[in-house]
Amino acid sequence: MTTTDLGLPGLPTVPGNRPTRPDDPRLIDRFGRVATDLRVSLTDRCNLRCTYCMPAEGLDWTPSEQLLSDDEIVRLVSIGVRRLGIREVRFTGGEPLLRKGLESILSRVSGLTPRPEISLTTNGIGLSRRAGALAAAGVDRLNVSLDTLRPETFQTITRRDRITDVLDGMAAARSAGLDPVKVNTVLLRGVNDDEAVSLLRYCLDAGYELRFIEQMPLDAQHSWQRGEMITAEEILASLREAFTLTPDPTARGGAPAERWLVEDGGSGRVIGVVGVIASVTRPFCGDCDRTRLTGDGQLRSCLFARGETDLRALLRGGSSDDEIADAWRGAMWAKAAGHGIDDPGFLQPDRPMSAIGG
Ligand code: SAM
Ligand code: SF4
Repeated sequence: MTTTDLGLPGLPTVPGNRPTRPDDPRLIDRFGRVATDLRVSLTDRCNLRCTYCMPAEGLDWTPSEQLLSDDEIVRLVSIGVRRLGIREVRFTGGEPLLRKGLESILSRVSGLTPRPEISLTTNGIGLSRRAGALAAAGVDRLNVSLDTLRPETFQTITRRDRITDVLDGMAAARSAGLDPVKVNTVLLRGVNDDEAVSLLRYCLDAGYELRFIEQMPLDAQHSWQRGEMITAEEILASLREAFTLTPDPTARGGAPAERWLVEDGGSGRVIGVVGVIASVTRPFCGDCDRTRLTGDGQLRSCLFARGETDLRALLRGGSSDDEIADAWRGAMWAKAAGHGIDDPGFLQPDRPMSAIGG
């Protein structure tokens, strides 16, 4: 397995040779990383069926009694923010707009002190009616997933005829002041890989920030194939046929997207930015600042972690905030150096993306 040496002074960086966890309230790990970005899955249900995510018939959804209640979610987020140094909370799923009481969860989290940044990743269905309420409830930033501008290709990828809802939702989010709306795109070979340029033009014209994501082995059907995936290099080569790209000098920090300034044809004028999230071919594990909570209250240190820590059992077993915070710290301390997708021994996690929270 490939490991990442992050050079934490004073701590061995060899997994297996574990130093004792120092007395530090934050979510630190053995490689010197500090998790400040919490991803919370609110449901594993979805109203689309993207082929790279789940099968046509859907999945066995988590029974409602196993899902965290609104109060349990707010308590865990509050522990993260007040005791563990969480500064950003992203709500996702499944489709988070399907979670009843979403706006109430958001406004309760936005009332925490210190107030975390709040963001939401959605497929955009129903967003046109709710964008204003989401902004009012405290959403600071919004990502909408859109893989194509062609209605028939949208139907092929998502198995639903809802592209107009998504496009209307994005426009409503922009009007509600959720600016800039970020757009997540996964390109699939022979399906929408000819749309990189048209999607970027569309987003630049509309004022959205486009980010391409390499397809990852997180589909419920386990059909991902390394050789089929459209790589970051291929995406950039397509874009360079129409635009000049130069690396964005702004610090990337823990952000997964490599950002590029986009210049139009020979004019030299910068007309926007585009991001590429090369999770497979250029993993950013060394800078990862994430910790994840599934809809049923399992803590994961990584999308690709093979183990989970059952915070729901602690919540429902009467543990104190201190005890839960300690369990959370211990789980993050054990975080692996990297996901190793490109290694021969890589094993896909049992849970698909929709059940972890993308
Ligand atoms: N339903 C919401 C949505 O689609 O935006 C939120 C959950 S979804 C799992 C979050 C993001 O993960 C989406 O942008 C989606 O395109 C992306 N995604 C899903 N499966 C993926 C995969 N196998 N590889 C890469 N990205 C994936
Ligand atoms: Fe649903 Fe998002 Fe998965 Fe598509 S990627 S099926 S919208 S959870």
